[in-house]
Amino acid sequence: MKALTKERTLRTFLLSQKHIVYTDPLDVQAGKTVTVFYNPANTVLNGKPEIWLRCSFNRWTHHMSPLPPQKMFPSENGSHLKANVKVPLDAYMMDFVFSEKEDGGVFDNKNGMDYHVPVFGGIVKEPPMHIVHIAVEMAPIAKVGGLGDVVTSLSRAVQDLNQNVDIILPKYDCWKFNNVKDFQFHKSYSWGGTQIKVWFGKVEGLSVYFLEPQNGFFSVGCIYGRGNDGERFGLFCHAALEFLLQSGFHPDIIHCHDWSSAPVAWLYKEHYRHYGLNKARVVFTIHNLEFGANLIGKAMLNSDKATTVSPTYSQEVSGNPAIAPYLFKFRGILNGIDQDIWDPYNDKFIPLSYTSENVIEGKRAAKEALQQRLGLKKADQPLVGIITRLTHQKGIGLIKHAIWRTLDHNGQVVLLGSAPDPRIQNDFVNLANQLHSSHNDRARLCLTYDEPLSHMIYAGADFILVPSIFEPCGLTQLIAMRYGSIPIVRKTGGLYDTVFDVDHDKERAQVYCLEPNGFNFDGADAAGVDYALNR
Ligand code: ADP
Repeated sequence: MKALTKERTLRTFLLSQKHIVYTDPLDVQAGKTVTVFYNPANTVLNGKPEIWLRCSFNRWTHHMSPLPPQKMFPSENGSHLKANVKVPLDAYMMDFVFSEKEDGGVFDNKNGMDYHVPVFGGIVKEPPMHIVHIAVEMAPIAKVGGLGDVVTSLSRAVQDLNQNVDIILPKYDCWKFNNVKDFQFHKSYSWGGTQIKVWFGKVEGLSVYFLEPQNGFFSVGCIYGRGNDGERFGLFCHAALEFLLQSGFHPDIIHCHDWSSAPVAWLYKEHYRHYGLNKARVVFTIHNLEFGANLIGKAMLNSDKATTVSPTYSQEVSGNPAIAPYLFKFRGILNGIDQDIWDPYNDKFIPLSYTSENVIEGKRAAKEALQQRLGLKKADQPLVGIITRLTHQKGIGLIKHAIWRTLDHNGQVVLLGSAPDPRIQNDFVNLANQLHSSHNDRARLCLTYDEPLSHMIYAGADFILVPSIFEPCGLTQLIAMRYGSIPIVRKTGGLYDTVFDVDHDKERAQVYCLEPNGFNFDGADAAGVDYALNR
């Protein structure tokens, strides 16, 4: 099943850019001839009288390449131009860009990324790169939100593609140690006026180095929320680069995330690049621009490539002064979830394993278990689940409205969430008390962080509601779909890119070779939520 899913995912990915580029056959084989199709209408080459294909292999390193530019010819389908290419036996990747003239002129190089299509069946494999993530969250051992999920799932996905991945993380006293395997002391060094102990362990099959400064910076009972977070993470970033240098590592890519490991970008460019860590390129990913825009702007300046977690969010933030000067190296790449970590067929927190084959039984069992555990009435009423940090970003007013609306419509509601701001937390505690007396058999607000319960809700709910005011990507709607729950989302950021409304988005879904998969709404008022919920 996993192999099939992977194959299907790759196919969907290759087809997802079909309106611009695709190949025939889709899976390119070494030693065979392939036809490249290109539609300039959606690119900078729109309207040019001639288009030239400039092609190479193995990320432009193949000894026979680049091939001489080839003029492209009209294809039968009308919209695309085409050209044939013979793929060498020792190719593992096809690379191309397009130009308006044989000798250059205007180029479409996919905004600096070039077009790449994997080649199968070759006699040479891609040599692995060494990629080091420097981050302050990692699921499941030190997770606050989506950043933690992505550090783990992106690393696993890239490791799966035969790249070498390491992660450097602070060693928190509040981490979930039982999820770390082969834990051992690695080394110790002095830096920044303190001794730094380095520990090694495996988390979800990934190699992780844990830095423990002996000044107690990460023994404060939490990840964020101390007055000196900037100072703590600043020391961590510096210490991480120092560790790489002192250990003689020569990563190809150093990947840092959000404001908390943003300093890595400039510390590397200003210092460590000159001290011997000279091979690396820095990739910086914005998971949420709401926090630390100054640090993010400085990392944007100093990184080689910058990404954020969905195409729509990349457009939404493109006018921000921290981002605007760097659009030439900035792209939105849609987040994914790890299908092994979030898998209703293999999930110890739900009562019955299920796939799409027995989803009805699986979800029925999960719903009953959820109702039982939370003391709700065991009834076949629509159950709306909400799993979220309770902050302004997540649409607190809309969440409250949706709870009442669902109850008015005779549904059940389960909310799992916690608020970093004590005033919001109090507000929800009051609402919980009110609801637990007025609708005790149909509403439950669990105002805490609870990973196992979140699995029960993803599986047991009929709908997962995500009415965010803004949402860089959002993972809860993706996890919901993986568990067969229908997402109801506000049309913003990554929610817009991943949820296609059954009534309005058939064509938009088709562009990505997808089917409509949920409900969405515009606006940030009660009418919007009602429109989606009522349907
Ligand atoms: P953000 O990073 O803004 O919090 P995302 O949707 O990207 O939002 O990621 C949220 C992640 O945190 C998901 O994996 C979700 O299941 C998890 N999560 C959020 N709140 C809770 C909670 N109260 N208990 C357990 N997991 C939670």
